[in-house]
Amino acid sequence: MPTLFEKIIAGEIPATIVFKDDRVTAFRDINPQAPVHVLIVPNKPIPTVNDVSDADERMLGHMFIVARDIAKQEGIAENGFRLIVNCNQHGGQVVYHLHMHLLGGAPLGRMLSGGTHG
Ligand code: AMP
Repeated sequence: MPTLFEKIIAGEIPATIVFKDDRVTAFRDINPQAPVHVLIVPNKPIPTVNDVSDADERMLGHMFIVARDIAKQEGIAENGFRLIVNCNQHGGQVVYHLHMHLLGGAPLGRMLSGGTHG
């Protein structure tokens, strides 16, 4: 079964794509948690951070380069932003296709909320 994000990458489900190349696709989150909320997704469907391999090292680095460029493009680089990668249940992962959240455009507050250690 293709993941939801594979369907977006294949153009089968609509999304607002902000960047795409042969390694990653970036699109706006459907339920934004900040004025700018973009998901940066490997085209290859790796389920979680637990599943990345040494062979993915360049692609994972590329995700940061793309995040840097989109932050600049969206005008949030100077004031700052947050990158989040959730993993499995405790991490709050909902879509099991690795992705990096790029959030910004306003002060984002404390790093964590709702946790007993937050
Ligand atoms: P996570 O909890 O890290 O797995 O995040 C999954 C994210 O995917 C959430 O922020 C959702 O709002 C987002 N999302 C779910 N469906 C879509 C969609 N069709 N288009 C864009 N973003 C989506």
